Amino acid sequence: MSLSYVHVEADSPWSTYLSQVDRVVPYLGRLARWVETLKRPKRTLIVDIPIEMDDGTVRHFEGYRSQHSLTRGPGKGGVRYHPDVTLEEVMALAAWMSIKNAAVNLPYGGAKGGIRVDPKLLSLKELEKLTRRYTSEIGIIIGPHQDIPAPDVNTNGQIMAWMMDTYSMNVGATATGVVTGKPIHLGGSLGRVKATGRGVFVTGREAARRIDLDLQGARVAVQGFGNVGSSAAELFGQAGAKIVAAQDHTGTIFNAAGFDLSELIPHVKNTGGVAGFRGSEPMANEDFWDVACEIMIPAALEGQITTDRARRLKAKLVLEGANGPTLPSADDVMADRGILVVPDVICNSGGVTVSYFEWVQDFSSFFWTEDEINVRLDKIMVGALRNIWDTADRHKITLRTATFAVACERILTAREERGLYP
Ligand code: GLU
Repeated sequence: MSLSYVHVEADSPWSTYLSQVDRVVPYLGRLARWVETLKRPKRTLIVDIPIEMDDGTVRHFEGYRSQHSLTRGPGKGGVRYHPDVTLEEVMALAAWMSIKNAAVNLPYGGAKGGIRVDPKLLSLKELEKLTRRYTSEIGIIIGPHQDIPAPDVNTNGQIMAWMMDTYSMNVGATATGVVTGKPIHLGGSLGRVKATGRGVFVTGREAARRIDLDLQGARVAVQGFGNVGSSAAELFGQAGAKIVAAQDHTGTIFNAAGFDLSELIPHVKNTGGVAGFRGSEPMANEDFWDVACEIMIPAALEGQITTDRARRLKAKLVLEGANGPTLPSADDVMADRGILVVPDVICNSGGVTVSYFEWVQDFSSFFWTEDEINVRLDKIMVGALRNIWDTADRHKITLRTATFAVACERILTAREERGLYP
C-alpha cells in the first residue's frame, strides 16, 4: 500500500528506494513477510522554523526529521540544508541510512533530517538561529539514545556544535553524544571530516583490485567537489590516479593530464567551486558524462546517473559517494554494459562509521588517535564489502541488491526477534 502523505513521482528518491527494496524481496526467504516494514518510515516530524532575519523581518522555513527504522538501535543520519529538500527526499535518505547502517553492521536504525533553505543566502547569525530553532523543534525525537544527527549536504562541524549546544541547554546537561561530526574540542572525532571520502577510496581500492584495474595512472572523474568528492579525490591522487574531470554547481573542468589537487582544493575553498580553476579548461556540463575515464565518482545529489548518461559513461567503475545518485533503470544499463557500481549504501558508509566511533568515544570519554580511527575504518569497510561481494557472487546479483540483501536480512531478523508490540 502506498503512503497517502507523500506524492511520489517516477524516478524520485523515494520511488528509487522502493524499487531497490522490491528487487531484494526474492532473496529474503521467509523474512519477506516483514518487507512492508521497510516501505514506510517509522515516524516523520515536519516542523515550522520561524527566524528573525538581520533586517528585522520574520521568515519561516520548512524542516523535517524522518526516522525510517529504529529496530536495530537509535536513529542515525545527517541533516541537509538545501533549497530543494522535500519530505519525500528526506524519507528516502533516512531509509538509505537504515540500509547503510545495517550493511556495515553499526548498531543503529536509520534517520535523516533537512531544512528547505539555501544556506548561502543567510548570514552566519541567521544560520545559527535557523539551526537552533530546528534543533529545538526536533528535540522531542532526538537524543544520544534516540536519534543522532550528523553533517550532510551544506552542514558542518559548526552547525553540529550549535545543535549540540541547543539540545544540551534544553535538557540541562552537556550531551556531546546527541550529534556527531562535531568539532574536535567538543567531543568530535579525529578523521571524521574526511571519513566519507576515505570510505569511498577504500571501497574503490578493493573493487579496483577485484577487476584488475590499476589505480596508478587511472583516470577519475568526480561530480561534486565538496567534502566527500574532494577527500576521495585526494586519496585517489595519492594512490597514483589522475583526477581528469570535476563538476559542481559552479561548472565543469577538465585536464587530461590530471589536476594539481594541491592547487584545486584551495581554489574550491576560496572561490566556492571548481569553475575558473587555472590548471584546467572549462567543459559543458553535460559533456562530463562522456569523459574518458576508468573511475566515475558521483558525490553530489540524487538522480544524476540517468539511463541516457549510463549509456554514455566510459568508466569501468562507479563509486557512489552521494546518496541515491543512480536511477534504477540506469543501474540495469550499467549492469548490462559490465560497469561495476559500488552502491552508496556501502561506498559512502565511511562517514557514518566514523560517526559511530565518535559516539562511542563520547560515551567512554576516551579518545582514539587518527591512526586508530583510520585503521578501524579500513578494516570494517573491507570486511563489510567482502561479505556483500560473497552475497552478490552467491546469488549472481549486483552489489546494490547484495548490499540490500545483507542489510534487509539484518533489519528484518531484528524486527522478527523483537516482535510486534502490543
Ligand atoms: N550524512 C552522512 C551520510 O549520508 C553521514 C551520516 C552520519 O554520520 O550519521 O551517510
